[in-house]
Amino acid sequence: MSLFAAVEMAPRDPILGLNEQFNADPNPAKVNLGVGVYTDENGKLPLLACVKAAEAQLNEAARARGYLPIDGIAAYDKAVQGLVFGESSPLLAAGRVATVQALGGTGGLKVGADFLKKLNPGAKVLISDPSWENHRALFTNAGFTVETYPYYDADKKGVNFDAMLACLNAAAAGTVVVLHACCHNPTGYDITAAQWEQVIAAVKSRNLVAFLDMAYQGFGDGIAEDGAVIGQFVAAGIDFFVSTSFSKSFSLYGERVGALSVVCASKEETTRVLSQLKIVIRTNYSNPPTHGAQVVATVLTTPALRAQWEEELAGMRNRIKAMRTALVERLKQAGVTSDVSFITTQRGMFSYSGLSKPQMERLRSEFGVYGVDSGRICVAALNEKNIGYVTESIAKVM
Ligand code: PMP
Repeated sequence: MSLFAAVEMAPRDPILGLNEQFNADPNPAKVNLGVGVYTDENGKLPLLACVKAAEAQLNEAARARGYLPIDGIAAYDKAVQGLVFGESSPLLAAGRVATVQALGGTGGLKVGADFLKKLNPGAKVLISDPSWENHRALFTNAGFTVETYPYYDADKKGVNFDAMLACLNAAAAGTVVVLHACCHNPTGYDITAAQWEQVIAAVKSRNLVAFLDMAYQGFGDGIAEDGAVIGQFVAAGIDFFVSTSFSKSFSLYGERVGALSVVCASKEETTRVLSQLKIVIRTNYSNPPTHGAQVVATVLTTPALRAQWEEELAGMRNRIKAMRTALVERLKQAGVTSDVSFITTQRGMFSYSGLSKPQMERLRSEFGVYGVDSGRICVAALNEKNIGYVTESIAKVM
């Protein structure tokens, strides 16, 4: 018998599987609204001008690439902290945040998950229902039992906040709660600042561990606006986790640029936590890669490039918003009579369209319009050229 005879075929990643199906579809009118990638008005993945400029600058002073420190480029970690917590945060001045460079937002989540598993092996993890597919798999693979807290309310087209809060208030001490800091994936529905206060109160009174996943900072209402929830947690005096991804905000998906930040009670505690995060990294991949983090650090710390990035990010954000408005208008024009105004309430790359699995299947097979079976479509993949076809197709399956 061969060594791998008993190996079972793993299920395909649902979203990447959709991509393969899309690529194989001969329909010339096909549109891919499945994967969470921002494309510009020409349907192209953008190379941001600030990134191009930073890369030119780095090339100019080209250097050999030795190993990075285990926790990554110091200037990068510092820039991430400034962005996430605010440059003048007293927390940073007090040395109370341990930040490590990570392989994208996924890497930040994984380093945090492995550290948490050692810290509190018996803890449960709660993710939102629904959540980014990988949350469940990642925390399960890290050894946790993963359950959900209520989130999406299909009838209300929004968040079932009462149920969410009740669930958190009933959670056992030490439970890890994964929260989307902004631009909830997949629904697009975020909670309000006042609701965050209630979540924070629950986290505090129940002694829960908050793990904020910030994969879309700047895609909702602005960099500061989207990061405001961090300030609320800090103000409440809670120790918590934040994973950061620059995949979308810098359009650097393939460079794997992200971070994990852990807010601690003191500088001394931060040193100990950092030492443990480094063990997790050292035993997984030793140390992170140089290029993407160098680019992001250069952009964030060079005032002209930083201003350019903020402008380009605003451009992406505003284009998505314009597409949301256009989606609502064009659906009406195409004869849809039901209220679809919820699309403009949603934030970030995605819209939970409310379409059923059979409707999503019809969109694919009859029209070559690819979204996720849950009804999630990527608004950031719409543009003036494809939106007419997409809205007419949607209207036909509704
Ligand atoms: N969290 C959420 C909610 C996401 O949507 C994503 C990306 N799809 C990630 C984390 C991971 O980001 P990255 O590609 O940087 O690993």
